[in-house]
Amino acid sequence: MSGRRAAFLGLGAIGAPMAAHLAKAGPLTVWNRTASRVAEFARAHGARVAATPREAAADADVVITCLPTSREVEALLDGPDGLLASLRRGTLFLDCTSGDPAASRRIAGQLAERGVAFADAPVSGGTNGAEAGTLAIMVGADEETFARARPVLALMGSRIEHVGPVGSGHALKAVNNALLAVNILAVGEGLAALVKAGVSARTALDVINVSSGRSFVSETLVPERVLTGAWPRTFRLALLEKDVGIARALLRETGVDGPLLDLAGELFGRARAALGESADHLEAIRLIESDSGVEIRG
Ligand code: NDP
Repeated sequence: MSGRRAAFLGLGAIGAPMAAHLAKAGPLTVWNRTASRVAEFARAHGARVAATPREAAADADVVITCLPTSREVEALLDGPDGLLASLRRGTLFLDCTSGDPAASRRIAGQLAERGVAFADAPVSGGTNGAEAGTLAIMVGADEETFARARPVLALMGSRIEHVGPVGSGHALKAVNNALLAVNILAVGEGLAALVKAGVSARTALDVINVSSGRSFVSETLVPERVLTGAWPRTFRLALLEKDVGIARALLRETGVDGPLLDLAGELFGRARAALGESADHLEAIRLIESDSGVEIRG
């Protein structure tokens, strides 16, 4: 990062592999709520550990957050140990959380009063994409902030897209993930019915994946995670439910009726209640399996 000092806050499933790329590129300070995680990361990647968000931002030129929701990002700003206590004028603040557009506009306003530029920069591509440095990153910012953000984000992603003003990255990410959620449910329901009707799930997907119903869910996620019975936990179902909620709010705010997304939100809410906070997003299909008394395997 050519001398730029970066701070990364939130070493979760996707944050940690993203931060690892930054550590390779220049001096990095990391903070995480659970201290054991941050110590392990620092050992593995040669980063400096900050005891508080305030300490993390104290000498940073760029501060990056990757937390579950905008609520946690806002909470990190305030208080004697919060980011606002030490953020310096001229610092660049990039929020890679899949957050809420209205909250981002609030945060951007608060930061602008202190001369700190903000961009919402949520990512897509999963933990594999984060490890490979090939994430798609959708940025909401003014032109000048985007120009500053781009080289930093390019260390973590291969497609960095300026999609509009502050908040628009989060809006686009929420709609993208709402489409993912709808797809998961639709593929799960369709395959359950086909298996019951005597078509193997593998055969069904082989045909769907050269036909017009194919999607990332049918081509990659279900073959790799469901048919194999592997069910890896890389992206929490609770986070996908949160994203559908943000997309639903966007539809309401813009006056667009959203019965399909409303139903997807309700079904994911039910799945979260049944499967818990640590279940993976694809496990929504487990619920379809148990409701219909069938296993989707290949
Ligand atoms: P995880 O649940 O794996 O990690 C969440 C991170 O936030 C952890 O570092 C956790 O700290 C921290 N955290 C949680 N609550 C608080 C809190 N109250 N205060 C401070 N820190 C907190 O989430 P992911 O890394 O998977 O996701 C992060 C963001 O990226 C989310 O917005 C998600 O929607 C998005 N995303 C995730 C993808 C994925 O494939 N996983 C893909 C694309 C986007 P601790 O270690 O203490 O729990």
